[in-house]
Amino acid sequence: MKALHEPALLELVDVRKRYGGNGTPEVEVLRGISLRIDAGEFVAIVGASGSGKSTLMNILGCLDRPSSGSYRFAGRDVAALDVDELAWLRREAFGFVFQGYHLIPSASARENVEMPAIYAGTPGPERAARAAELLQRLGLESRAGNRPHQLSGGQQQRVSIARALMNGGHVILADEPTGALDSQSGIEVMKLLDELSAQGHAVILITHDREVAARAQRIIEVRDGHILSDSADGQLPSGNAGALPASRLRERLEERRELPAGAWRGELLEALRAAWRVMWVNRFRTALTLLGIVIGVASVVVMLAIGEGSKRQVMAQMGAFGSNIIYLSGFSPNPRVPEGVVTLADIAALSGLPQVQRIMPVTGGDTLVRHGNLDFQAYTRGNGIDFPSILNWPVAEGAFFDQADEDSAATVAVIGQKVRDKLFAGRDPIGQHILIENVPFQVIGTLVAKGASSGDEDADTQIVVPYSTASIRLFGKPDPDFVVVAAADASRVQQAEAAIDRLLLRLHRGVRDFEVTNNAALIQAEASTRNSLSLMLGAIAAISLLVGGIGVMNIMLMTVRERTREIGIRMATGARQRDILRQFLTEATLLSVTGGIAGIAIALLVGGALLLADVAIAFSLTAMLGAFGCALATGVAFGFMPARKAARLDPVTALSSP
Ligand code: ADP
Ligand code: MG
Repeated sequence: MKALHEPALLELVDVRKRYGGNGTPEVEVLRGISLRIDAGEFVAIVGASGSGKSTLMNILGCLDRPSSGSYRFAGRDVAALDVDELAWLRREAFGFVFQGYHLIPSASARENVEMPAIYAGTPGPERAARAAELLQRLGLESRAGNRPHQLSGGQQQRVSIARALMNGGHVILADEPTGALDSQSGIEVMKLLDELSAQGHAVILITHDREVAARAQRIIEVRDGHILSDSADGQLPSGNAGALPASRLRERLEERRELPAGAWRGELLEALRAAWRVMWVNRFRTALTLLGIVIGVASVVVMLAIGEGSKRQVMAQMGAFGSNIIYLSGFSPNPRVPEGVVTLADIAALSGLPQVQRIMPVTGGDTLVRHGNLDFQAYTRGNGIDFPSILNWPVAEGAFFDQADEDSAATVAVIGQKVRDKLFAGRDPIGQHILIENVPFQVIGTLVAKGASSGDEDADTQIVVPYSTASIRLFGKPDPDFVVVAAADASRVQQAEAAIDRLLLRLHRGVRDFEVTNNAALIQAEASTRNSLSLMLGAIAAISLLVGGIGVMNIMLMTVRERTREIGIRMATGARQRDILRQFLTEATLLSVTGGIAGIAIALLVGGALLLADVAIAFSLTAMLGAFGCALATGVAFGFMPARKAARLDPVTALSSP
């Protein structure tokens, strides 16, 4: 017997539902329904099409809210429940069976059945076992992997019944469950509902078919939004020994806890799986729309790699002559001051500075060089004997000239590799005589090829002779064109420069008619132009990333629109707003991650091809991670709006979408 204090399972008092208003004509579909249903009852609600049965069921199942009147579930006022509590009721208390089955088309039968348990946080193995058991009970074990379109109507309806039972399904709400089925399948489904009722489930069956309704213990007839008759009127409810009492359900609703720790993992996995399924099903469209992100990421990575590669190449060229090198030359600060000269006397004074390791004057000019009947235009430079060590440029054959040659202005020459090739073509040049501007010189050595390492093609067309010889015999000018200094400490070139500058300024009586620069500064200047170039390329590429993000938003908006019904189904099986949000954000993330990975892969392919074509290229992990991160961020940012739109959908509206 039922205890007196036991609340009704479901109780409606004067429930009304109006549609329309706001311009459209207002219709009242439910016009004061009062109804009490107890645990374990098997109730049929019959009525003609359009009488308001489905509207009533949506209200009973908390998919919709009444316009007025009260609805109590196990004694709790449903109007006072928050969205999460309503989601709990849909998930744990109700099981829906719809006329159109409402299965998720991209998921298999087993995945559809497992859906409510995923949102309930049931651990994977337990979930799989229960789904297998239910599918077997409904004779579908061999169809577990089939997708809905691979199942007959009767089979789909049985899958949806299995889904309704997944979390218990204390109240089975079946809206015209046999409406779309052939008579045989219809009979099977009705038999199942009978069995469920016998096992203690409350079953509320909605139908327009009196024959179907006759299987229930109690028949409620509705017409035009009113209850016309109720077979239970005036009788005490029959009660059902196997049913979970309403008070227990109420307790469970009240002690409803947050999901068990770790439940998010199952949900995330499911979200990922669902996201992957959707992406795969629409792979062509997805690939096209992802092109934006793919091209964006690929171009960011390749552009930055090319920028970095050319920067490193230039640095290597300039660095080939040493980064501790300082150059001094005459300079005219303004038109009234004549260009100054750094004289040999200045050099002698500067060589005393502790910051100066080596110092040498340089003079030079274009010269005509002959050997036998061959001639060649070469740049001949007069240098100090420290040339090889200062410029980090050793001789390849023979020897460099020494102090004695310098002191005696000896006519000896050390020739670059291209000069050697031109004048001697493979023969040994050492000891041979050449004419430089008709002055005979003896070749005493050759310089190693520098062009290959420095990229400076002209470096090897030079001839080096002693400074004194060049200034007296070749060019007839005593003062150097410029002066090369090797700083003692490569890491303190700035300080050396400052010391040189101070001393020179004093020697030149305060007139700054000279200029001090260094290799490091030249490298820096070059590097910074290259840097801004690659930044610009990067910015252009970043714009395509933004376009890619808009592509993701486009996919997501389309997906949300196309899958509105799926969202409704997920909500009916108990998904909370944040589950839906998570689902669609996961899809946006997966999209952008896929796009990002594809972009990096393409960048590496393009980079490989460029490398084969001898383009200097240097991939940077930071650039790759950065581009990938940007793709992810834009994808998620642009995916958020559609995801939120999906999460805020109303369950009935979503379910009734085409
Ligand atoms: P049944 O399930 O008994 O066939 P419904 O509950 O689906 O009937 O619909 C009852 C009435 O409410 C119908 O006349 C239908 O046109 C109307 N109706 C249902 N949903 C809406 C809605 N969202 N907006 C306006 N009218 C609606
Ligand atoms: Mg209906």
